[in-house]
Amino acid sequence: MNYRQSIPLRLIALFLFLPPPREAHSWGFFAHKRINEMAVFTMPPSLIGFYKQHLTYLVSHATDADKRRYADPEESCRHFFDSEFYVTQSFDSIPRRWTDALNRYGKDSLRAHGIVPWYIERMVHRLEKAFREENQALILHYSADLGHYVADAHVPLHTTRNYNGQLTNQTGIHAFWESRIPELNAESYDYFAGRATYIENVSKAVWSAVVASYQVVDSVLCLEADLTQRFAPGLKYSYETRGTVLQRVYSESYTEAYNKSLGDMVERRMIQSIRLTGCLWFTAWVNAGQPDLSKLDATQAVDSL
Ligand SMILES: [Zn+2]
Repeated sequence: MNYRQSIPLRLIALFLFLPPPREAHSWGFFAHKRINEMAVFTMPPSLIGFYKQHLTYLVSHATDADKRRYADPEESCRHFFDSEFYVTQSFDSIPRRWTDALNRYGKDSLRAHGIVPWYIERMVHRLEKAFREENQALILHYSADLGHYVADAHVPLHTTRNYNGQLTNQTGIHAFWESRIPELNAESYDYFAGRATYIENVSKAVWSAVVASYQVVDSVLCLEADLTQRFAPGLKYSYETRGTVLQRVYSESYTEAYNKSLGDMVERRMIQSIRLTGCLWFTAWVNAGQPDLSKLDATQAVDSL
């Protein structure tokens, strides 16, 4: 961006390390694109032709939902879920139906604490409707968005109030986990997510993903805190130039050590994102009556949305 060029580098480096606003959080653009891309290859024979034809669209629009947050005040809450706010006894006590959630928490609280699981279900219904209407532009639009929200629900730090380690003196851990680690390691992942299958109970599958994310939040935070204790402070960070910007980043050796202590957590959450995305695309199509997509015009422009 041009405005950056007029700001001294030192100031930019400081700026980039300040806690980013909540709106800026999401899997890195790289991971979102990879998740949508690999979800295409989970499609069964009846759908893979259609999805492969539109692979470029699904990849390039994998991050549209994040971009909309700057223009749409309703968008931000669709990307996260503050489990600590909602869970009074257990996840089971949280209403699964959106209207019940609205009645219990009210719109303002939902907007403040996040709605990703409810919103994923809404996207599945919209995608189903688009399939039923054989509206190619909308099928692609909702498929790309659905992959985005499913991916966000698989990021542990999207399911906690302490989303950037700001409550535990670990500010910066959000992008560290979901951007830095995948960027440095993604080529070694196998992405094997199997073939998409029909999901009988969409709500249950989506909430299971959120619960699984939240269950590893403690590990995400504690392992990083332990590592900080063991790592020489001077080796934790390094500086990289990105474009014209000098940026302080977690060093490669620190990233590698953290990734090792997490085991295959990041890779696993990516693969589960890919799988659930594929399964929900397929499920929406089945629920729409399995329309024949081969008659849709593959060259139809879909970027007008
Ligand atoms: Zn997001």
